[in-house]
Amino acid sequence: MAEARHWLPAAAAALLLAVWGAAGVEVRNWGRDIVTNPAQFVTVRSADDIVEVVRDGESYPAPVRALGSRHSNTKVIMADGGTVVNMRKMNAILGHDESKLTVTVEAGALYIDVSEYLQKHGLMHYVNTEFGSITSGAAAVAHTKDAAFVGEHGQISSYVVGVKIVTADGERLHKSRAVHDAM
Ligand SMILES: Cc1cc2nc3c(=O)[nH]c(=O)nc-3n(C[C@H](O)[C@H](O)[C@H](O)COP(=O)(O)OP(=O)(O)OC[C@H]3O[C@@H](n4cnc5c(N)ncnc54)[C@H](O)[C@@H]3O)c2cc1C
Repeated sequence: MAEARHWLPAAAAALLLAVWGAAGVEVRNWGRDIVTNPAQFVTVRSADDIVEVVRDGESYPAPVRALGSRHSNTKVIMADGGTVVNMRKMNAILGHDESKLTVTVEAGALYIDVSEYLQKHGLMHYVNTEFGSITSGAAAVAHTKDAAFVGEHGQISSYVVGVKIVTADGERLHKSRAVHDAM
């Protein structure tokens, strides 16, 4: 959003913002049994966009909740009167490291797309979920688990080795398991 405002004429920027951000939207989960009515539903395309959202509490009121593919069946997406941040357009697969056996993706990248990327390189996720439409970001922070190898608990978040985070006050943090014991 910030980038668009820099180079677009005001009218075009306003049109684009109208597409990216919508007020008074009803958001339902995949099962359609959990519903929330945020004041704002905003689609972000970069970390800069997320920083802009969390720093502008007037336009994007709290609570602010990230949204992946809406597959959760608990009330974790509830943001009545607040802001839902749709992560699905931040879906780039940024690359992998053959020696470290890691892959780096944006939070909105679907698990199946990352799996297909890895397959092209003769690799695979260590934990493979029964369905691919969850986002990597949700899988990394939630308790999502599935079949894995014998003796494995199969929780996807156990295999996250680094994250870039935007905090509630807009600070950017980079945490890596190699440096931060708490991960
Ligand atoms: C048919 C079906 C089958 C399922 N099977 C299983 C199963 O076998 N095993 C299992 O563990 N789960 C299962 N689930 C649950 C689902 O896999 C998890 O809830 C998963 O985390 C949902 O991913 P999502 O992208 O849809 O996230 P959402 O439902 O959109 O969000 C999940 C949570 O993650 C947070 N979040 C999303 N993106 C981000 C981000 N970028 N940064 C920070 N927080 C974020 C959200 O705020 C929310 O709290 C199933 C769900 C369905 C509908």
